[in-house]
Amino acid sequence: MIHSPEPPRLPPRSLHDLGFAGIEGELRAAGVSAHHAKALWRALYHDGELGLTIRADFLPPLKRWLASSVGEGKAFFLDTPEVADESHSDDGLTHKFLLRLSDGHSIETVLMGYDGRHTACVSTQVGCAMGCVFCATGQMGFVRHLRPGEIIAQVLHVRRVMRATQPDKRLRNLVLMGMGEPLHNYDAVMQALDTLSSVRGLNIGPSKISISTVGVIPGILRMAAEARPYRLAVSLHGATEAERAALVPLSSKWNLTELIAACRQYGALTGRRIFFEWTLIAGHNDSLETATRLAELLRGIDAHINLIPLNPTSGFAGTPSAAGHAFQRVLRAAGFPCTFRQRRGIDVAAGCGQLQASAQGRSTPPSSSAGHGDRSSGVLKLA
Ligand code: SAH
Ligand code: SF4
Repeated sequence: MIHSPEPPRLPPRSLHDLGFAGIEGELRAAGVSAHHAKALWRALYHDGELGLTIRADFLPPLKRWLASSVGEGKAFFLDTPEVADESHSDDGLTHKFLLRLSDGHSIETVLMGYDGRHTACVSTQVGCAMGCVFCATGQMGFVRHLRPGEIIAQVLHVRRVMRATQPDKRLRNLVLMGMGEPLHNYDAVMQALDTLSSVRGLNIGPSKISISTVGVIPGILRMAAEARPYRLAVSLHGATEAERAALVPLSSKWNLTELIAACRQYGALTGRRIFFEWTLIAGHNDSLETATRLAELLRGIDAHINLIPLNPTSGFAGTPSAAGHAFQRVLRAAGFPCTFRQRRGIDVAAGCGQLQASAQGRSTPPSSSAGHGDRSSGVLKLA
Protein backbone atom coordinates (compact mmCIF):
# COMPACT_ATOMS: atom_id res chain seq x y z
CA MET A 1 0.00 0.00 0.00
CA ILE A 2 1.34 3.41 -0.97
CA HIS A 3 1.10 6.19 1.55
CA SER A 4 0.97 9.70 0.18
CA PRO A 5 3.47 11.82 2.10
CA GLU A 6 2.01 14.05 4.80
CA PRO A 7 2.43 17.74 4.01
CA PRO A 8 5.13 19.16 6.27
CA ARG A 9 3.56 20.72 9.37
CA LEU A 10 4.58 24.26 10.18
CA PRO A 11 5.71 24.80 13.75
CA PRO A 12 2.96 26.38 15.86
CA ARG A 13 3.01 30.16 16.06
CA SER A 14 1.95 32.54 18.79
CA LEU A 15 -1.30 34.38 18.15
CA HIS A 16 0.28 37.27 20.08
CA ASP A 17 3.00 37.54 17.44
CA LEU A 18 0.62 38.31 14.60
CA GLY A 19 -0.59 41.87 15.03
CA PHE A 20 -4.01 42.97 13.83
CA ALA A 21 -3.28 42.67 10.11
CA GLY A 22 -1.74 39.25 10.71
CA ILE A 23 -4.86 38.02 12.48
CA GLU A 24 -7.04 39.35 9.67
CA GLY A 25 -4.80 37.55 7.18
CA GLU A 26 -5.00 34.24 9.03
CA LEU A 27 -8.78 34.42 9.28
CA ARG A 28 -9.10 35.26 5.61
CA ALA A 29 -6.75 32.43 4.64
CA ALA A 30 -8.98 30.06 6.59
CA GLY A 31 -12.08 31.30 4.79
CA VAL A 32 -13.36 33.27 7.79
CA SER A 33 -14.37 36.88 7.27
CA ALA A 34 -11.70 39.31 8.44
CA HIS A 35 -14.50 41.19 10.25
CA HIS A 36 -14.08 38.73 13.10
CA ALA A 37 -10.57 40.02 13.76
CA LYS A 38 -11.95 42.91 15.80
CA ALA A 39 -13.79 40.66 18.24
CA LEU A 40 -10.77 38.42 18.61
CA TRP A 41 -8.44 41.39 19.13
CA ARG A 42 -10.69 42.82 21.80
CA ALA A 43 -10.86 39.50 23.61
CA LEU A 44 -7.09 39.11 23.46
CA TYR A 45 -6.00 42.58 24.46
CA HIS A 46 -8.87 44.54 25.91
CA ASP A 47 -10.87 42.00 27.89
CA GLY A 48 -8.39 39.19 28.22
CA GLU A 49 -6.24 39.27 31.29
CA LEU A 50 -3.72 36.92 29.84
CA GLY A 51 -4.62 34.49 27.16
CA LEU A 52 -7.98 34.33 25.55
CA THR A 53 -11.49 34.08 26.75
CA ILE A 54 -13.83 32.75 24.10
CA ARG A 55 -16.92 34.76 24.67
CA ALA A 56 -20.48 33.65 24.20
CA ASP A 57 -21.12 36.49 21.79
CA PHE A 58 -18.44 35.34 19.34
CA LEU A 59 -20.06 34.36 16.09
CA PRO A 60 -19.91 30.69 15.06
CA PRO A 61 -17.26 31.07 12.30
CA LEU A 62 -14.83 32.63 14.78
CA LYS A 63 -15.61 30.02 17.43
CA ARG A 64 -15.00 27.27 14.91
CA TRP A 65 -11.71 28.80 13.80
CA LEU A 66 -10.52 29.16 17.39
CA ALA A 67 -11.51 25.60 18.24
CA SER A 68 -9.66 24.20 15.24
CA SER A 69 -6.62 26.48 15.18
CA VAL A 70 -5.65 27.60 18.67
CA GLY A 71 -4.41 25.36 21.45
CA GLU A 72 -2.27 22.33 22.14
CA GLY A 73 -1.14 20.60 18.94
CA LYS A 74 -2.79 23.23 16.72
CA ALA A 75 -1.44 25.94 14.42
CA PHE A 76 -1.43 28.69 17.04
CA PHE A 77 -0.68 28.98 20.71
CA LEU A 78 -0.83 31.85 23.19
CA ASP A 79 2.12 33.24 25.08
CA THR A 80 1.38 32.52 28.71
CA PRO A 81 4.65 32.55 30.63
CA GLU A 82 4.76 30.96 34.06
CA VAL A 83 5.58 32.99 37.13
CA ALA A 84 8.66 31.19 38.42
CA ASP A 85 9.23 33.66 41.22
CA GLU A 86 8.08 37.06 42.41
CA SER A 87 8.97 39.57 45.07
CA HIS A 88 7.85 42.92 46.46
CA SER A 89 10.06 45.75 47.60
CA ASP A 90 9.71 46.64 51.28
CA ASP A 91 7.69 49.76 50.44
CA GLY A 92 5.34 47.58 48.39
CA LEU A 93 5.62 49.83 45.35
CA THR A 94 7.77 47.59 43.20
CA HIS A 95 6.68 44.12 42.23
CA LYS A 96 9.17 41.99 40.35
CA PHE A 97 8.37 38.83 38.43
CA LEU A 98 10.63 36.16 37.11
CA LEU A 99 8.74 34.77 34.15
CA ARG A 100 9.63 31.40 32.65
CA LEU A 101 9.24 31.16 28.89
CA SER A 102 8.11 28.05 27.09
CA ASP A 103 11.70 27.02 26.30
CA GLY A 104 12.70 27.24 29.97
CA HIS A 105 14.59 30.55 29.82
CA SER A 106 13.63 33.22 32.30
CA ILE A 107 13.16 36.95 31.99
CA GLU A 108 12.29 39.63 34.47
CA THR A 109 9.40 42.04 34.38
CA VAL A 110 8.72 44.75 36.93
CA LEU A 111 5.57 46.62 37.90
CA MET A 112 6.32 49.97 39.51
CA GLY A 113 3.54 51.89 41.16
CA TYR A 114 4.86 55.07 42.67
CA ASP A 115 3.68 58.67 42.40
CA GLY A 116 0.23 57.40 41.46
CA ARG A 117 1.53 56.14 38.11
CA HIS A 118 1.83 52.53 37.14
CA THR A 119 4.62 51.53 34.85
CA ALA A 120 5.57 48.17 33.42
CA CYS A 121 9.28 47.64 32.85
CA VAL A 122 9.73 44.81 30.37
CA SER A 123 12.56 42.78 28.88
CA THR A 124 13.24 42.56 25.16
CA GLN A 125 15.88 39.82 25.14
CA VAL A 126 17.07 36.97 27.30
CA GLY A 127 20.41 38.43 28.42
CA CYS A 128 22.08 41.14 26.36
CA ALA A 129 24.92 41.21 23.84
CA MET A 130 26.16 44.69 24.72
CA GLY A 131 28.20 43.82 27.80
CA CYS A 132 28.07 47.14 29.68
CA VAL A 133 30.45 46.57 32.54
CA PHE A 134 28.20 47.81 35.35
CA CYS A 135 25.08 45.96 34.21
CA ALA A 136 24.17 42.55 35.56
CA THR A 137 22.28 41.63 32.39
CA GLY A 138 25.27 42.61 30.27
CA GLN A 139 27.49 40.37 32.32
CA MET A 140 25.18 37.44 31.63
CA GLY A 141 25.75 37.65 27.88
CA PHE A 142 23.25 37.22 25.10
CA VAL A 143 20.97 34.20 25.06
CA ARG A 144 18.24 35.05 22.54
CA HIS A 145 15.82 37.67 21.27
CA LEU A 146 12.25 37.70 22.55
CA ARG A 147 9.39 37.32 20.08
CA PRO A 148 6.72 40.06 19.99
CA GLY A 149 4.33 37.78 21.87
CA GLU A 150 6.85 37.27 24.65
CA ILE A 151 7.20 41.03 25.06
CA ILE A 152 3.42 41.55 24.97
CA ALA A 153 2.80 38.72 27.44
CA GLN A 154 4.87 40.54 30.08
CA VAL A 155 2.56 43.55 29.86
CA LEU A 156 -0.54 41.34 29.88
CA HIS A 157 0.78 39.66 32.99
CA VAL A 158 1.42 42.94 34.79
CA ARG A 159 -2.02 44.21 33.85
CA ARG A 160 -3.58 41.00 35.10
CA VAL A 161 -1.87 41.49 38.47
CA MET A 162 -3.00 45.11 38.59
CA ARG A 163 -6.57 44.22 37.76
CA ALA A 164 -6.56 41.71 40.59
CA THR A 165 -4.91 43.93 43.19
CA GLN A 166 -5.81 47.50 42.22
CA PRO A 167 -8.87 47.30 39.98
CA ASP A 168 -9.38 51.07 40.10
CA LYS A 169 -5.96 51.78 38.54
CA ARG A 170 -4.87 51.60 34.92
CA LEU A 171 -1.55 50.62 33.49
CA ARG A 172 -0.54 53.67 31.48
CA ASN A 173 3.22 53.61 31.15
CA LEU A 174 5.67 51.22 29.62
CA VAL A 175 9.45 51.31 29.63
CA LEU A 176 11.71 48.96 27.69
CA MET A 177 14.37 48.97 30.37
CA GLY A 178 14.38 45.39 31.53
CA MET A 179 16.79 42.80 30.22
CA GLY A 180 18.16 43.36 26.75
CA GLU A 181 18.79 46.01 24.15
CA PRO A 182 15.51 46.87 22.39
CA LEU A 183 17.05 48.21 19.19
CA HIS A 184 19.08 45.02 18.77
CA ASN A 185 15.69 43.30 18.44
CA TYR A 186 14.07 46.08 16.41
CA ASP A 187 11.39 44.28 14.41
CA ALA A 188 10.00 42.25 17.29
CA VAL A 189 9.99 45.30 19.56
CA MET A 190 8.14 47.49 17.07
CA GLN A 191 5.63 44.76 16.30
CA ALA A 192 4.98 44.35 20.04
CA LEU A 193 4.61 48.10 20.54
CA ASP A 194 2.13 48.37 17.66
CA THR A 195 -0.03 45.83 19.46
CA LEU A 196 0.45 47.32 22.93
CA SER A 197 -0.43 50.83 21.82
CA SER A 198 -3.48 49.81 19.78
CA VAL A 199 -6.44 51.83 21.00
CA ARG A 200 -8.71 48.83 20.68
CA GLY A 201 -6.42 46.72 22.81
CA LEU A 202 -4.19 47.55 25.76
CA ASN A 203 -4.24 51.16 24.65
CA ILE A 204 -0.97 52.37 26.16
CA GLY A 205 -0.37 55.81 24.64
CA PRO A 206 2.73 55.92 22.41
CA SER A 207 3.98 58.97 24.28
CA LYS A 208 3.91 56.88 27.47
CA ILE A 209 6.18 54.24 25.98
CA SER A 210 9.95 54.69 26.38
CA ILE A 211 12.50 52.79 24.37
CA SER A 212 15.89 52.88 26.07
CA THR A 213 18.91 52.13 23.91
CA VAL A 214 22.61 51.96 24.62
CA GLY A 215 23.22 53.56 21.24
CA VAL A 216 22.39 51.23 18.35
CA ILE A 217 22.65 53.96 15.73
CA PRO A 218 20.89 52.23 12.81
CA GLY A 219 17.92 51.58 15.10
CA ILE A 220 17.77 55.22 16.23
CA LEU A 221 17.79 56.45 12.63
CA ARG A 222 15.26 53.84 11.60
CA MET A 223 12.92 55.01 14.37
CA ALA A 224 13.18 58.52 12.92
CA ALA A 225 12.72 57.40 9.31
CA GLU A 226 9.68 55.33 10.25
CA ALA A 227 8.30 58.16 12.43
CA ARG A 228 7.87 55.84 15.41
CA PRO A 229 5.86 57.82 17.97
CA TYR A 230 7.61 56.51 21.09
CA ARG A 231 9.96 58.26 23.49
CA LEU A 232 13.61 57.67 22.79
CA ALA A 233 15.99 57.32 25.73
CA VAL A 234 19.70 57.02 25.02
CA SER A 235 21.98 55.58 27.70
CA LEU A 236 25.12 57.69 27.49
CA HIS A 237 27.24 57.26 30.65
CA GLY A 238 30.35 58.95 29.25
CA ALA A 239 31.16 62.42 27.89
CA THR A 240 34.45 61.54 26.21
CA GLU A 241 35.26 58.62 23.94
CA ALA A 242 37.52 57.07 26.59
CA GLU A 243 35.08 57.55 29.46
CA ARG A 244 32.24 55.93 27.55
CA ALA A 245 34.35 53.16 26.03
CA ALA A 246 35.44 52.07 29.52
CA LEU A 247 31.80 51.44 30.49
CA VAL A 248 30.05 50.62 27.22
CA PRO A 249 31.87 48.18 24.91
CA LEU A 250 29.47 49.04 22.06
CA SER A 251 31.43 52.30 21.74
CA SER A 252 34.06 50.43 19.75
CA LYS A 253 31.42 49.88 17.04
CA TRP A 254 29.63 53.21 17.18
CA ASN A 255 31.59 55.81 19.04
CA LEU A 256 30.31 58.74 21.06
CA THR A 257 30.82 61.28 18.26
CA GLU A 258 28.77 59.16 15.85
CA LEU A 259 26.11 58.56 18.48
CA ILE A 260 25.66 62.25 19.25
CA ALA A 261 25.52 63.01 15.51
CA ALA A 262 22.79 60.37 15.15
CA CYS A 263 20.88 61.93 18.06
CA ARG A 264 21.09 65.35 16.42
CA GLN A 265 19.78 63.81 13.20
CA TYR A 266 16.96 62.09 15.09
CA GLY A 267 16.03 65.39 16.73
CA ALA A 268 16.10 67.27 13.44
CA LEU A 269 14.01 64.65 11.64
CA THR A 270 11.41 64.13 14.35
CA GLY A 271 11.36 67.33 16.38
CA ARG A 272 11.22 65.12 19.43
CA ARG A 273 12.97 65.49 22.74
CA ILE A 274 15.55 62.85 23.59
CA PHE A 275 15.97 61.50 27.10
CA PHE A 276 19.58 60.79 28.01
CA GLU A 277 20.19 58.22 30.72
CA TRP A 278 23.27 58.61 32.83
CA THR A 279 24.16 56.05 35.47
CA LEU A 280 26.38 57.77 38.02
CA ILE A 281 29.37 55.60 38.89
CA ALA A 282 31.85 56.79 41.52
CA GLY A 283 35.20 57.75 40.04
CA HIS A 284 34.15 56.83 36.48
CA ASN A 285 31.72 59.45 35.20
CA ASP A 286 30.63 61.65 38.09
CA SER A 287 33.08 64.56 38.17
CA LEU A 288 32.05 68.17 37.64
CA GLU A 289 34.35 68.31 34.59
CA THR A 290 32.38 65.45 33.11
CA ALA A 291 29.11 67.27 33.80
CA THR A 292 30.47 70.35 32.03
CA ARG A 293 31.64 68.28 29.04
CA LEU A 294 28.24 66.56 28.90
CA ALA A 295 26.47 69.91 28.77
CA GLU A 296 28.81 70.93 25.95
CA LEU A 297 28.25 67.67 24.07
CA LEU A 298 24.46 68.01 24.17
CA ARG A 299 24.35 71.71 23.34
CA GLY A 300 21.54 72.44 20.90
CA ILE A 301 19.76 69.10 21.41
CA ASP A 302 16.30 69.12 22.97
CA ALA A 303 17.50 66.88 25.77
CA HIS A 304 16.26 65.76 29.16
CA ILE A 305 18.92 64.15 31.29
CA ASN A 306 17.94 61.40 33.68
CA LEU A 307 20.51 60.66 36.34
CA ILE A 308 20.36 57.10 37.63
CA PRO A 309 21.97 56.17 40.92
CA LEU A 310 23.98 53.02 40.33
CA ASN A 311 22.36 49.91 41.71
CA PRO A 312 24.86 47.61 43.29
CA THR A 313 26.52 45.18 40.92
CA SER A 314 29.95 43.72 41.39
CA GLY A 315 32.98 46.02 41.26
CA PHE A 316 31.26 49.41 40.94
CA ALA A 317 30.18 51.93 43.54
CA GLY A 318 27.47 54.54 43.25
CA THR A 319 28.14 58.27 43.44
CA PRO A 320 27.38 59.74 46.88
CA SER A 321 24.23 61.82 46.69
CA ALA A 322 25.92 65.19 47.39
CA ALA A 323 28.22 64.68 44.39
CA GLY A 324 25.25 63.54 42.31
CA HIS A 325 23.37 66.73 43.15
CA ALA A 326 26.41 68.84 42.26
CA PHE A 327 26.52 67.03 38.90
CA GLN A 328 22.84 67.80 38.41
CA ARG A 329 23.34 71.50 39.23
CA VAL A 330 25.94 71.87 36.46
CA LEU A 331 23.52 70.45 33.90
CA ARG A 332 20.61 72.53 35.11
CA ALA A 333 22.74 75.67 35.05
CA ALA A 334 23.50 74.86 31.42
CA GLY A 335 19.75 74.88 30.75
CA PHE A 336 18.97 71.16 30.62
CA PRO A 337 16.04 69.61 32.47
CA CYS A 338 17.79 67.09 34.67
CA THR A 339 16.12 64.70 37.09
CA PHE A 340 17.13 61.86 39.33
CA ARG A 341 15.53 58.53 38.86
CA GLN A 342 14.43 57.32 42.25
CA ARG A 343 16.17 54.31 43.71
CA ARG A 344 13.28 52.02 44.09
CA GLY A 345 13.11 48.33 44.39
CA ILE A 346 16.73 47.79 45.25
CA ASP A 347 15.80 45.48 48.08
CA VAL A 348 14.29 43.06 45.58
CA ALA A 349 17.11 43.57 43.09
CA ALA A 350 14.57 45.10 40.74
CA GLY A 351 16.74 48.11 40.08
CA CYS A 352 18.09 48.71 36.61
CA GLY A 353 20.91 46.43 35.74
CA GLN A 354 20.02 43.90 38.33
CA LEU A 355 17.56 42.06 36.24
CA GLN A 356 19.69 39.08 35.71
CA ALA A 357 18.30 35.66 35.45
CA SER A 358 20.39 34.46 38.34
CA ALA A 359 17.53 32.19 39.13
CA GLN A 360 17.54 30.56 35.70
CA GLY A 361 17.00 26.89 35.99
CA ARG A 362 15.96 27.33 39.61
CA SER A 363 13.34 24.83 40.53
CA THR A 364 11.21 27.14 42.65
CA PRO A 365 7.60 26.12 42.17
CA PRO A 366 5.39 28.77 40.61
CA SER A 367 3.95 30.99 43.31
CA SER A 368 0.25 31.12 43.68
CA SER A 369 -0.69 34.73 44.38
CA ALA A 370 -0.21 36.07 40.90
CA GLY A 371 1.01 32.97 39.19
CA HIS A 372 -0.50 31.22 36.28
CA GLY A 373 1.73 28.25 36.24
CA ASP A 374 -0.92 25.99 34.84
CA ARG A 375 -0.46 26.68 31.16
CA SER A 376 -3.85 25.35 30.31
CA SER A 377 -5.59 27.82 32.59
CA GLY A 378 -4.71 30.86 30.48
CA VAL A 379 -5.09 29.21 27.15
CA LEU A 380 -8.62 28.60 26.04
CA LYS A 381 -11.53 29.11 28.34
CA LEU A 382 -14.56 27.99 26.47
CA ALA A 383 -17.61 30.02 27.28
N1 SAH B 1 19.71 48.13 26.96
C1 SAH B 1 19.01 49.33 27.15
C2 SAH B 1 17.79 49.18 28.03
C3 SAH B 1 17.94 48.29 29.23
S1 SAH B 1 19.02 48.90 30.47
C4 SAH B 1 19.93 50.42 27.66
O1 SAH B 1 21.04 50.12 28.04
O2 SAH B 1 19.51 51.57 27.62
C5 SAH B 1 18.05 50.22 31.16
C6 SAH B 1 18.84 51.27 31.90
O3 SAH B 1 19.44 50.72 33.07
C7 SAH B 1 20.00 51.84 31.08
O4 SAH B 1 19.99 53.24 31.14
C8 SAH B 1 21.20 51.28 31.79
O5 SAH B 1 22.34 52.07 31.61
C9 SAH B 1 20.75 51.24 33.21
N2 SAH B 1 21.56 50.38 34.08
C10 SAH B 1 22.18 49.23 33.75
N3 SAH B 1 22.85 48.73 34.81
C11 SAH B 1 22.61 49.57 35.85
C12 SAH B 1 22.99 49.61 37.22
N4 SAH B 1 23.74 48.64 37.75
N5 SAH B 1 22.56 50.62 37.97
C13 SAH B 1 21.77 51.60 37.46
N6 SAH B 1 21.39 51.63 36.18
C14 SAH B 1 21.79 50.63 35.37
FE1 SF4 C 1 22.51 45.63 27.69
FE2 SF4 C 1 21.44 47.93 28.53
FE3 SF4 C 1 22.68 46.27 30.25
FE4 SF4 C 1 24.11 47.62 28.45
S1 SF4 C 1 22.88 48.48 30.13
S2 SF4 C 1 24.33 45.45 28.95
S3 SF4 C 1 22.73 47.59 26.72
S4 SF4 C 1 20.82 45.84 29.13
